[in-house]
Formats: sequence, structure tokens, C-alpha cells
Amino acid sequence: MRARWAPWALGAAVVLVGLYLSVFFLPYPLFPHHAEFAGFSVYSDREIPAGFELVLDDARGRVEAMELYRGAKNPRIFVCRSQRLFVFINKLAGKRHAGQALVISAANNAFFSEEGIEAIGRRNGGRPLHSRLQGSWSAAIAHEVAHLQMVPAIGALGERGLPPWKSEGYADFAANLAAAAADPNYDLGERVGLLLDDRNWQPPVTSFDRRHFRWHVLVEYLCDVRGLDFADLLDDDITQDDAWDEMTAWYSALRQE
Ligand SMILES: [Zn+2]
Repeated sequence: MRARWAPWALGAAVVLVGLYLSVFFLPYPLFPHHAEFAGFSVYSDREIPAGFELVLDDARGRVEAMELYRGAKNPRIFVCRSQRLFVFINKLAGKRHAGQALVISAANNAFFSEEGIEAIGRRNGGRPLHSRLQGSWSAAIAHEVAHLQMVPAIGALGERGLPPWKSEGYADFAANLAAAAADPNYDLGERVGLLLDDRNWQPPVTSFDRRHFRWHVLVEYLCDVRGLDFADLLDDDITQDDAWDEMTAWYSALRQE
């Protein structure tokens, strides 16, 4: 009996696994709108958002300014304008919380949530500029590319094994480097001040937001002021507590000048 239906069961299992994997590797039927912009292939579940060409031009500038940029092919961008679709893909991937993006690095596919990106910008009032809290599409895309750029440098397991303050802080720092450099009013000291001032972090802004901004600013301090590069940052001797003490001391000295 078992021998007679086993091939059917096996066939059904293969089809199910195939369907499951196709959501991550061949999601095209779910994203029928397609365009090529600035070296990015974009797929969207609904009409591609207006002005997306400018978003990707900006994203390209951010990506090419990164320390770890080696000319790798950009991930395919899948725009989820439907939050239900984005949540569905996250659940299939085993994620309980859906944020701004989900990257399947083995497929070089990156899924983005329109609602996720806009919601973080809304609750933070579009500030601080040049951070993940701004709610910027190009920064969100560049952030994911920055994570992918770490993989050839330290391997997929190495990237996943980094403490979050280093991997997320570095990805945010790298994603916003070009935008910060192009802004004549950009000032790291001011950003540390903004981070330290509790008045900037009242609800609806969340502890998640402040924590991520802290990671970003810490890595920026280490790279810009202390002159560390990505390889230096990996050193286990570089701890979040030490970096925090140094950065806040640096900030206090700045204010006394
Ligand atoms: Zn990240």
C-alpha cells in the first residue's frame, strides 16, 4: 500500500517545496510590473511607484560610494506595495516581524515594504536626515546592498554572526555615506547631540528607532573620527560600550570648545 502511494506523496512534496522556493527565487508572477533603472531590475506587485527612477539613481550613487563596493550585480528589487504580500513573504521565510525589507541573498532578491518604509518615516517625521528613520527608499535599498557587500568580505555566516550594532550600524552608515557627504550642513557632533537628547525620542518614535540610530552613529564615529575601516571594525576588541564611552567623551570635548 505504502509503495503505491509513496510516489504521489513524494511528487506532492516536491511540488510544495518547489512552490515554497519559487516565492523567494522566482517570485515574478507575484510582481508583474517590471522596469530597469540605473543598473537595478525592479519588479512591483502594482504599478511601480512614481519617481522610482530617481530613487534608483540615488541608490546607485550611495552603493558606488561604499567602501566595500566591488561592482557586484545589484540585487533584484521587489516592491511590495501590498503590505499583506510583504507579510506573507516574511512569514514564509519564518520571520515573525516584518520590517522594511527582506533579502534572500542566495537568490540575490530583495523584497521591500512600501508601508514599512513609509511608516518609519511618518513616525519619525522624516528625521534624522540620512538615516534609516527618514523613511527613504534609496537609503533602504542601499542598506540592504551594504549587507550583501559584507558577504564576499566575511562570508554569509560571518555577516550573520556579527553583533547587530556592527552589522546594522555599518549598513546604515554605508547606506548614507554619499548623502551625508553631499550635505553641506551635515555634522556628526549634532547627530550625537540629537541621539542623546531624550526629547527627540518620545512616542510615536520607538526604542527600536533610537537603538538603530545609536548603532549608526557609533559606527560613524569609529569610521569617521577614529578612522577605522570595515575590517578594523570586525575586531572583537571594538566593543559597543567602549565605543559609546569614547564617543560621548569626544562629544563633551566638542561642546567645550
Ligand atoms: Zn539591516
